[in-house]
Amino acid sequence: MSQKKCPLSHEQLEELTTRYSTPFYLYDEAAIRANARALKEAFAWNPGFKEYFAVKATPNPYLMKILKAEGFGADCSSLPELLLSEAVDLSGEDIIFTSNDTPADEYVKAMELGAIINLDDITHIKFLEQCAGLPERICLRYNPGPLKAGNTIIGHPEEAKYGFTRDQLFEGYRLLRDKGIKRFGLHTMVASNELDATYFIETAHLLFDLVGELSAQLGIHFDFVNIGGGIGIPYRPEQEPVDLTVVGEGIRKLYEEKIEKTGLGLLDVRMECGRMVTGPYGWLVSRVLHKKNTYKQYVGLDSCMANLMRPGMYGAYHHITVSGKESRPHDFVCDVTGSLCENNDKFAIDRALPEPEIGDLVVIHDAGAHGHAMGFNYNGKLRSAELLLRADGDVVQIRRAETISDYFATLNFAGLKNFKV
Ligand SMILES: *Cc1c(COP(=O)(O)O)cnc(C)c1O
Repeated sequence: MSQKKCPLSHEQLEELTTRYSTPFYLYDEAAIRANARALKEAFAWNPGFKEYFAVKATPNPYLMKILKAEGFGADCSSLPELLLSEAVDLSGEDIIFTSNDTPADEYVKAMELGAIINLDDITHIKFLEQCAGLPERICLRYNPGPLKAGNTIIGHPEEAKYGFTRDQLFEGYRLLRDKGIKRFGLHTMVASNELDATYFIETAHLLFDLVGELSAQLGIHFDFVNIGGGIGIPYRPEQEPVDLTVVGEGIRKLYEEKIEKTGLGLLDVRMECGRMVTGPYGWLVSRVLHKKNTYKQYVGLDSCMANLMRPGMYGAYHHITVSGKESRPHDFVCDVTGSLCENNDKFAIDRALPEPEIGDLVVIHDAGAHGHAMGFNYNGKLRSAELLLRADGDVVQIRRAETISDYFATLNFAGLKNFKV
């Protein structure tokens, strides 16, 4: 069982809404830091271990600055994500650029920052060389295809658009070796929101074996393997979080057997998790705006799918509590909806809750990753503010809410006057 608790009491939340109007996101700094330390601890046996926070999960520089202070780097896949990393003074080995279908200007910026470039395709070797030149060390992304089972979000690896095939990998490293590159990394990412610890140990196994084969065949040395992100979180209260110690220890045993004993030298283990880093420590706080009783009971919130898309997009479960009524009987079955003109704009379907009343605060849990970040403006909806609960109990705003002027910023209304129809 995982506890679904907001770090602020009902009274504290109500007080907060006198300063910031709902809906808003709230993140918990102390919990994010404690979790970051637990991840590092699980891999303390590997002196070069590094986690690169997948910026796309929660692209807020205030959170990135906290994670940097905990020793995390950044995993970027777009120019704005590189710029966010630059804004918190990350550069060089602290950034990995894992992109796909990459525009030239993004490679140029990644090279300028000295980021580790993780190539998604064999044709990108030439593309990168032409647009930005080749770096001193480079990483290639492996797609194991049928050699590894995927999971529901990523699907079967052979259907996934990412990475090199096995043969392309051998060819790619050979090509890069012959161009004089001496430092190499190997990456794969084949799962998303995976709760089975053995999955990550198997991924490391696959990469360690491959490092052995590639090193032997091509006479090259690997600095690191990056086993990607994808560690899941228990969205449902009955689920258990991934035991990081089990993952760390499982990979340590393989490391001793496959790397240390075979004399492959020092190999850093790297990860690029997003979801498990911030996901459980972010909440979407919203108010009940309407109740409606037709063929079903509906509870309408003042937020919508534009604020949190996962339930509508993936049918994903997010736990919901009615603030101040947590211990009342859960005997009111309803759909919890947003205001988009889309019938999949529902945070929950047939969910049993303590009966909410208009004006009640509703807390949507585990929204700290791939939540605010996926927000969009369809139907003229605006993205909410992001607030951070500091370790000392203060709450600070780390992103303001969008305004209608933000929404209209790309339109030229003055031009309408001269626009003849
Ligand atoms: C999305 C993504 C991640 C992070 O995935 P999580 O499920 O949030 O851990 C890491 N690496 C790459 C290449 C990604 O696309």
